[in-house]
Amino acid sequence: MRITYPILLSLLLTSCAAYKSVDPMHSPPSTVREPSSSDDETNLATAFDMMMNSSNPEKEFVDYLTRQKSIFVRAEANLADFDHELDDSVAAQKNFAFDDSKTYKKLIVMWGLSHRLQDKIIYHYVKLTDMAYDKSLPASKRKMAKNILHKFKAKLDSKDPMEKISFDELKTEIAQAIKERQGMTNKSLNPADVPEVNFKDEQEKLKTLRAYRDQLRNLGKIEQDSDNDLTQKIERDSEKLKIVDAAGREPQSELRFKPSVGPDGNVMGLVFPKNVWALTYDDGPNPTHTTAILNNLQTLGIKATFFWLAENVLRYQSVVDLVKERGMPRENHSWTHPQLPKLDDAGLQKEIVQSTAVDTKAYGEKPRFFRCPYGAGNSVPKIRGMIADLGMIHVFWNVDTLDWQDKDPDSIVERAKKQMAAAGHGVILFHDIHPQSVIASRKLVEWSQTQKDANAIRWVTIPEIVDEMNGVTPPPPVEPKPVDPATASTKVNGAVK
Ligand SMILES: [Zn+2]
Repeated sequence: MRITYPILLSLLLTSCAAYKSVDPMHSPPSTVREPSSSDDETNLATAFDMMMNSSNPEKEFVDYLTRQKSIFVRAEANLADFDHELDDSVAAQKNFAFDDSKTYKKLIVMWGLSHRLQDKIIYHYVKLTDMAYDKSLPASKRKMAKNILHKFKAKLDSKDPMEKISFDELKTEIAQAIKERQGMTNKSLNPADVPEVNFKDEQEKLKTLRAYRDQLRNLGKIEQDSDNDLTQKIERDSEKLKIVDAAGREPQSELRFKPSVGPDGNVMGLVFPKNVWALTYDDGPNPTHTTAILNNLQTLGIKATFFWLAENVLRYQSVVDLVKERGMPRENHSWTHPQLPKLDDAGLQKEIVQSTAVDTKAYGEKPRFFRCPYGAGNSVPKIRGMIADLGMIHVFWNVDTLDWQDKDPDSIVERAKKQMAAAGHGVILFHDIHPQSVIASRKLVEWSQTQKDANAIRWVTIPEIVDEMNGVTPPPPVEPKPVDPATASTKVNGAVK
């Protein structure tokens, strides 16, 4: 649709109003608040008790959804700004640098807020369900839990289009968590049973989202400096969120990559050979989406690298086994996805060291690579030191599809293609926990396979390209030998010495 001036004006007005009504700046301070230092299980339990002991737990819990929508809408605005920045940089024929982008840092902050809040909501929901059916509790307590859930579900099933979109995945995740809690999940996994993801039913929702995004895009950079709370937070966190480390610096030994706190211990796509790309998926495994991705990859005839959370590895061993069977690398992405720089020693121990132990057991071999959640901690020597001490190399990305926020597969593909064209080679970040990522990554690879001759794209896994750039013969991709954790770090170092 061509947007005429009167339409644009009305869009502007509606959008300003809509934006204002959901802007955290215009809401009570509790609407979007800074995440606590580590919302691990203890903190989630504390948060649950606090809610239950508050004067109005029903309202407190339903307000989480208001906050969820508010974060979603705010991140949509950030996403529109990011796409503007990307377009400007493409027009200026520059490489797009995350490090220079304030919008990207804002998105990372929103990403953290959204992640944490979703974890909290799911935890609370499961606890309330337990309470509602716990016969050992007094009837009044059970009734109270049921009432809270009832109000919450009513809001979760909202007819408001924007609420529908922002609660969609949360609903699925809650249902999955409840099913698992009740032991209703099928442990044996048949990839042939995984339904193909399609967005046919989603067209209405996507239309709403696209219209909203068009409004934002037409408004230009609506964020400006008005969002002082977030700007201040980003400045406070900027050291911790420093995301790019020493691109293009010379390696410090004969090996291009090795476990190290220096630039040689951090795989940056910017040093890959021309047109060489690694497809990476984070945050799984997930029984539906990881399996659908595997089916796609098999059809497309390429391999990807998976960076997983130990909490999900423990939940879905059958998916872990399936990815191993298909000969694709499984790597470490922490235990619970916290911002590592915010953790104390015990927290770092759990998220880096213990998660590696969990992965080693589940994968049948020690992970060779680690990726910090949100990329945060990549430039913190203590964190990188712990990763290197375990014999792992850090892996960053230089194309971010922002698929955790963007529900529209086509727009995800466009964003990836623009960044790929600017960079020429590198590491692409997707997530194997969202339906839109399944579609978008398939479409991106399909497009890549139409690129011929000088533009032909070669897909590699992270271990493949690292071994290649290190001058090591790649190990056979299928049936990797179990590695003894005690000797794995010397093996990584010693392999080519
Ligand atoms: Zn992640």
